[in-house]
Amino acid sequence: MGGGTEANALYSPYPQFVSRPKGKAIHNIIQDRLRQFTGGGQYQNQSLLPKLDEGRISGGDAVKISVYSVPNLARPSFDEAVKKGTFKATKKGESFGPSWSTHWFKITIKVPSDLAKKEHLEFHWDANNEGLVWSENGEPLQGLTGGGDRVEWIFPKSWRDGSAHTFYIEMACNGMFGNAPGGDGNQPPDPNKYFQLNTADIVAVNLEARQLFVDFWIIGDAARELPQDSWQEHQALQICNDIMDAFIAGEGSQESILKGREIASKYLGDINSHQVYDSGKEAIVFAVGHCHIDTCWLWPWAETKRKVARSWANQCDLMDRYPEHRFVCSQAQQYKWLKQLYPALWKRVSEKVHKGTFIPIGGSWVEHDTNLPSGESLVRQFLYGQRFFESNFGERSKTFWLPDTFGYSSQLPQLCRLAGMSRFLTQKLSWNNINKFPHTTFNWVGPDGSQVLCHMPPSETYTAEAHFGDVRRSETQHKSMDQDNTSLLVFGKGDGGGGPTFQMLEKLRRCRGISDQVGLLPRVKVGNTVDEFFYNLEKKAANGTEFTTWYGELYFELHRGTYTTQSNNKWNNRKTEILMRDIEFIATLASLKPKSNNKSKSYSYPKKDIDDMWEGILLCQFHDCLPGSSIEMCYRDSDKLYVGVWETGKRLVKEALEVLGFEVDEDEGQYMLNLLPWKRHDPSQLMSAQRAGLGAITLGVDSPVDCDLKLIEHQDGSIVISNEQFQIKVENGAITSLKDIRSSRELIPDGEKANQFVIFDDKPLFWQAWDVEVYHLNSRKEIKSGKTVVIKNDYNGISLFTETKISDKSWIKNTITLRSASYNDYPYVEFDTEIEWQETMKFLKVEFPVNIINTEASYETQYGIVRRPTHYNTSWDMAKFEVCCHKWADLSEYGYGVSILNDSKYGFATSGKTMRLSLLRSSKAPDGHADMGRHHIKYAMYPHDGGLDHRTVRAAYEFNHPMRIIKPIPQRRSHFEAFQSVRLVGNPAIILDCIKRGEDDPDVSRGELPKRKAQSIILRVYDSLGGTAKGTIEWDPDYLPVEGAFLTNIMEDDLHEVSYPKTTASFDFILRPFEVATFRLQLPAI
Ligand SMILES: [Zn+2]
Repeated sequence: MGGGTEANALYSPYPQFVSRPKGKAIHNIIQDRLRQFTGGGQYQNQSLLPKLDEGRISGGDAVKISVYSVPNLARPSFDEAVKKGTFKATKKGESFGPSWSTHWFKITIKVPSDLAKKEHLEFHWDANNEGLVWSENGEPLQGLTGGGDRVEWIFPKSWRDGSAHTFYIEMACNGMFGNAPGGDGNQPPDPNKYFQLNTADIVAVNLEARQLFVDFWIIGDAARELPQDSWQEHQALQICNDIMDAFIAGEGSQESILKGREIASKYLGDINSHQVYDSGKEAIVFAVGHCHIDTCWLWPWAETKRKVARSWANQCDLMDRYPEHRFVCSQAQQYKWLKQLYPALWKRVSEKVHKGTFIPIGGSWVEHDTNLPSGESLVRQFLYGQRFFESNFGERSKTFWLPDTFGYSSQLPQLCRLAGMSRFLTQKLSWNNINKFPHTTFNWVGPDGSQVLCHMPPSETYTAEAHFGDVRRSETQHKSMDQDNTSLLVFGKGDGGGGPTFQMLEKLRRCRGISDQVGLLPRVKVGNTVDEFFYNLEKKAANGTEFTTWYGELYFELHRGTYTTQSNNKWNNRKTEILMRDIEFIATLASLKPKSNNKSKSYSYPKKDIDDMWEGILLCQFHDCLPGSSIEMCYRDSDKLYVGVWETGKRLVKEALEVLGFEVDEDEGQYMLNLLPWKRHDPSQLMSAQRAGLGAITLGVDSPVDCDLKLIEHQDGSIVISNEQFQIKVENGAITSLKDIRSSRELIPDGEKANQFVIFDDKPLFWQAWDVEVYHLNSRKEIKSGKTVVIKNDYNGISLFTETKISDKSWIKNTITLRSASYNDYPYVEFDTEIEWQETMKFLKVEFPVNIINTEASYETQYGIVRRPTHYNTSWDMAKFEVCCHKWADLSEYGYGVSILNDSKYGFATSGKTMRLSLLRSSKAPDGHADMGRHHIKYAMYPHDGGLDHRTVRAAYEFNHPMRIIKPIPQRRSHFEAFQSVRLVGNPAIILDCIKRGEDDPDVSRGELPKRKAQSIILRVYDSLGGTAKGTIEWDPDYLPVEGAFLTNIMEDDLHEVSYPKTTASFDFILRPFEVATFRLQLPAI
């Protein structure tokens, strides 16, 4: 019978008689009761809330305020404002505005003696807008958010001495999300918003009451969110009720508050310091602080610069108070602004970076869009980002950090690896509104086979509030538990909310306490870095864990309108990317020109100008700028920036050409400058004699003897034009027949029309500038065009012109041009379109129905091709009803295909046999005037015998790279040989996409990183079609005395030397499908 134990004793401690009746706790009632303790409403005065302050004073001698309201919406520096501003007395209750204006407050506080004795004093300020606290001598101290969030600033203890002490607050008349009217942050900003100063008080805080508030909050969450079939849920509920009962019994006394905390500790353990994380028990959720600051969005760049200072100052302060706190922050551009504008804060941040608590991450210049920028732009995002981090903090980032971008290019795994990053963090795919992405941690594989370890935090946010629920969801929503149970929790208010708050760090300590004390909640840890998290995953992978793979692009099933919105910005992006390619190429040749020409001594590679231009272009690729989802102000800023890029660009081309003995002359020039790595014609010009790739082409030598162009105008208004290749029938602007004569094929399906403009009603569910929804396709309407007329008919081509009225205010003028096929390498039909666009919530596209059948269409992406379905078999297929392309889209079947080229567009759809290029949208939010006005768009239809191959790739390059017309400068040697000094030969799928000087060459470097001894040329090539490809780089040893060649990564680090017989002045190389390779040709040391 067990024998001898207390439980077996004869005497039972259980009383024989009942003392009183006791009922079962009614779960929902005691749960609903909890809100009485910390919520507002009718019991507020009886709750814990009034206990949070022990005293509060404002106005009078205690708080004196004067203000300098800055005129003209200017944002002066501290010195400008404080030294030059006129300050006038003001007080609580006054309002300040209008939107975007700045007000500097001089605040003098004198702590009254009764408050001076209190344990903890703070200054509270709330005007429902953002502010920055500055010390009297101009040091930025801490940001303020407003609207009840982050209203407190802990002033120095020494200020309790009874004397007056002064500080400043710089008020920005905008909230976290700009100045949107009412509650809809998506709408254009109200220019006339005013902000009332509600709070400007010295407050004595009851720290124990504040702590009890957080205790109760978290245990209350456990009572609400843990499953009811767990004992931990019931205990949480009981503990909360016990805390309330103790508070009531003690009539809200300090003792009852302390008693409450004691009761809470039964559930939380000891959570009063960072040592809660030292229990030695294994955590699976790693919480890292972060502050997602959109570089522009509902506010302009100028405000972002201040948001950065406010937010990062907060974090430096929090790190001093919470030693476990780790804060990761991306976007080199934001660091650069801080360095330029806030030197004192930059120093403070740098110290924290060296301590390892403030952690630069991401490796890119900004958190950029990845659908629209070119391959070279993606490379430069990394090159400029990583070089900034390396030169300022001694280290490159190992993790590409891009939580909030609208879809992810398939080439990112390869480019990340080439930039020294093996890890990728993102989040946005949790916003998909059709299919749920199935993985949390996985290998993401690019088209060349490169992989990165990708993690998508299962709490499904990059601005978590660090709630109990966020920690819990890190387990319950984790989709890769079969391989690994760990996850990141990225917490902190973004966009001017200033990053993590002290409340978040307090909540996380309690969540950890719960896991150690009662369990059930996944164990969270604060204090590890993102690199440590990924390192553990990489170790696991190395030790045999096979993470699930995802091949190809991470298509985002939302925000498909961003391929089209803000057309002008996208036009500038495409054109300046091409401009940069030309400038770097010509400047490279000019900077290496043989010393025989005197001019060369004064010319050096214009690195600073090139850096400034690239940094501007990269900034505009920010994930709310280039995609078109920012307010109007932001596009006025980017328009101005691009004007600067064009001006500098024009000057740089002129200066570099001059060194080589040429000048641009559109009227009198005799040569066309071909900077593409293959021979080409420009069929728009007179016939050429020489056809050299990467070189000058003689212009205007002869005109064709037999012109193959023919024109027939029919009585019914239809016009038939033809060359040796095509016969095209045009009726009222549309192509009703397109016959490939050589292939004997009719390309337009019976009764259908190509170059047909169609318009759609475009009202997405919520995010106007961002989204186009699948149902817009139901509203397709053909726009009727006017009569087509012949406007040109000579040996350069036949042009047909048609005007189309869209509405009373909007119209299209479209010119179709067919050129001779005999001198045309890629005989495409060109369309030149001018549009006046004044519509509301309409989407304009142009259609090309073609007699081609394939279940997949091909689209150019960075350094390659993405294939996407032309059907809607599954919800994953249908979700891609609008996709992104670069210079071309192609629908080919075996033996024949049609490519649609464009000069500045990115949105496309192929539905069955219909190819549809997206032209213009007319969303009214957040920019009320997006895309209104005049547009000039070029596109082309290129039918080709045979499947998709290098001809489409080259045709699209040529369509986008018009040649410059140049002439030799008289009395100067013209260095024709320069343009032939480096060449690519071999497989035509290989593209030489970039020629530039080495970043750290002795005559190029700006000193941020160690210089090399010798000059070099960087060449970037890629396979454009997806096959193993062999190529050869050749150079002219007289012009380029190459001493060696190296394969490098995109950071231009040498990976290995390329071996080749030194007598040949060339080397061979082989590329994987869609591989990007960078070579460095080394020249003699200088
Ligand atoms: Zn964002």
